[in-house]
Amino acid sequence: MESGFLPRTRFQTLLDALHRAGYRCVGPRVRDGAIVYDTLTRAEELPRGMRDRQAPGRYRLEQTGNPRFFSWANGPQALKPFVFAPQEPLWRSERNASGEIRFAEISPPAERLAIIGVRACDLAALRLQDRHFQEGVVADSHYAARRRNLILIAVHCTHPADTCFCVSTGDGPRATQDFDLALSELDDGYLVQAGSEPGRELAAQLTLTRATAAQREAAAREIEESAKSQTRRLPSRQLRDALFANLEHPRWNDVAERCLSCGNCTAVCPTCFCHSEAEEPTLAGDHSRHLRLWDSCFTQGHSYIHGLTIRADTRTRYRQWLTHKLGSWHDQYGRSGCVGCGRCIAWCPVGIDITEEAAAICGGGTHG
Ligand code: SF4
Ligand code: SF4
Repeated sequence: MESGFLPRTRFQTLLDALHRAGYRCVGPRVRDGAIVYDTLTRAEELPRGMRDRQAPGRYRLEQTGNPRFFSWANGPQALKPFVFAPQEPLWRSERNASGEIRFAEISPPAERLAIIGVRACDLAALRLQDRHFQEGVVADSHYAARRRNLILIAVHCTHPADTCFCVSTGDGPRATQDFDLALSELDDGYLVQAGSEPGRELAAQLTLTRATAAQREAAAREIEESAKSQTRRLPSRQLRDALFANLEHPRWNDVAERCLSCGNCTAVCPTCFCHSEAEEPTLAGDHSRHLRLWDSCFTQGHSYIHGLTIRADTRTRYRQWLTHKLGSWHDQYGRSGCVGCGRCIAWCPVGIDITEEAAAICGGGTHG
């Protein structure tokens, strides 16, 4: 449902409406040479005219001088840190004077957060994180509390980076689900579409004008052109059988020669959910916090089981990453774990490209 048109000069009214409803707004801002999500209080803080140039192992920003706020693809962050925190305490234990130990849950956070500028690939990744953290046998209370308090303002992607391949995974560039509002950015403003009841209530506060047929056509054309401009792709959406039939393929040795086992790819990946747990005791020894920390299948400790590190070398760690992400994820969640955001390609220090590795092992091209 198209709700109407918001001129760019009135973008602040969206932030004001969210602030009035009790949300902290988080949106794209330029920091340390990248577009990252940070607290947003004024529309002028948005990255007006910024464009990202991405390639394997490379991410650069440039100023184009155009008036748009969202003419970039994605930065290193997705929604993952806002729902699955990189480090968070889950419970604490305390020893009293008689030596008795008591455990107490640390309450999940309750902050209401509005995230502005969310891309279709990241909404698809959030759906997968929802499946993992809150739709299993037991919902993770920390994840669920953060997720419940989110309102999501998507922006259809019209400027994909060279590393993007969401068309080939079926996850973009148009946001089709799980948003509260979705914006189409045009030269003079935004088509605003509500996707939920909170989104409709928000849109009602924005005094939108009626969108013209020309504006709707221009928005649809831009998304279509954005999809056509993507050239990178995975060989198929179903690579499970091909990957498991090639567990001894020589390409695993080849990629292991290049891979640093640094784990950057898993940190930036919006769907990776592995974590480790640790105790953080006080020096006095009377309190301890139990922490959950992001982990990676590229670390030594990740495959340590009872006196043995199962994946002791980079070859088996990279193989684990790819065969899980593109293979056994189908068994767990009914689809691949890749949404085509391209982050693991741009933020890999040696420029390893998941689409090239998948094609080399499974057959098929990476550019089309
Ligand atoms: S595997 Fe790479 S391209 Fe796919 S979702 Fe993760 S970071 Fe994005
Ligand atoms: S593929 Fe790249 S980012 Fe991932 S662990 Fe290897 S070197 Fe690091």
